[in-house]
Amino acid sequence: MRDKLLAPIKGTFINLLEWDYLKKTQVVLLYATLIELAVYITQFKLIGHPLVNTEFLLRWIWYFPTLILINGVFFLFGLKLKNSPKQQYYYAYVVGIYYSIALMVIPISIGILNIANGVIFLGTTLLSLILFPRKMVYGAVAICTMIYILSATLIVTGYMPYALALKPNILLPPNSTGVYVIASMAYTIIYAALTIYLFDISLRNWKEKEQYKDKLSVTDELTQLLNRRGFNSLVELQVRQAQIRYQEISLIIVDIDDFKKINDQYGHQCGDLVIKSVADILKKSFRSSDIVARFGGEEFTILLPSTNMHDAIHVAENCRQILESSSIEISKSELISTKASFGISSTVSRCFDYETLFTEADKALYEAKQNGKNQVRAYR
Ligand code: GH3
Ligand code: MG
Ligand code: MG
Repeated sequence: MRDKLLAPIKGTFINLLEWDYLKKTQVVLLYATLIELAVYITQFKLIGHPLVNTEFLLRWIWYFPTLILINGVFFLFGLKLKNSPKQQYYYAYVVGIYYSIALMVIPISIGILNIANGVIFLGTTLLSLILFPRKMVYGAVAICTMIYILSATLIVTGYMPYALALKPNILLPPNSTGVYVIASMAYTIIYAALTIYLFDISLRNWKEKEQYKDKLSVTDELTQLLNRRGFNSLVELQVRQAQIRYQEISLIIVDIDDFKKINDQYGHQCGDLVIKSVADILKKSFRSSDIVARFGGEEFTILLPSTNMHDAIHVAENCRQILESSSIEISKSELISTKASFGISSTVSRCFDYETLFTEADKALYEAKQNGKNQVRAYR
């Protein structure tokens, strides 16, 4: 029940995470515009209020409309931006820093350089850590902290009045402002830094776990090769790409010979060891651009992009010989050798269809088995 309720929320959240930086930044700009509009309206309402420094408000009345204008320019600029992740990253970076500086004016002018502002600041930072790269968020936080320390210093040393937008010293007795500002600043910075750090650690942990789960669903535990699901999802894309580029690709299916005998004679655990050793040999025998997978049991599949039938036969034969000549240590005193049969198909017939490719390689493998095993057969 709980999962059912949480699923759509989690789904929306994950969708949001997958947005590109451009979209996320533009949402932040819209959000900032709303806040700035609200502050601007409040400013007007406060003019003439007995507690408010009206002269200051009127002098700075252009500030928020200007910010809104700049937001608009940034937003439109974003629309013109190319679909390049690097450009989007810098765009988000610049907007993030501009936004932090622009909004620091509010706490300084109304004198909430204290825990209340710290909480707002914290909320924004934590949310940003979910949406944007850590480096970018920490950059903006560093700039805010510097402005914070600078303004506190100016207040304490008497160069700047406390709470500029209010009547002088309206909130605090004159001689306690310095102590109050320093104490609040220290408290806010330590509290915020600690919370951000802890949150960041747990967020990183969570992201790693999610990535690990994604990896698990496509990885075979025993061999660390792709599993059938992982192979299928990659291969369909490869076959389509090959078709678009009109390139030949080949598929090899490998099945260990007489594997049941190994299991029967040495036990299931040794069987597993043999599967793992064969997987290691396959990994080493193929290029890194080839897709090697444990398709199931003692059966492996390899997709060779941009490879014609002739070359595929050549690498398969090489691999078969390596397998035949290598021995697997199943215990300290016992070595066994294993052999395998290879079936190959390729898009030489210009049939760019994964299922056909697979059926043909499987038929070739069947022929290899029928013909005495430990050999490479190509579909013709
Ligand atoms: P052939 O030469 O015709 O391929 O003969 P074979 O004995 O290898 O026959 P087949 O491919 O049909 O048998 C596969 C066997 O592999 C059956 C199954 O018990 C065993 N097997 C499947 N998965 C695993 C596994 O994860 N570990 C172990 N140890 N054995 C497995
Ligand atoms: Mg088999
Ligand atoms: Mg077999």
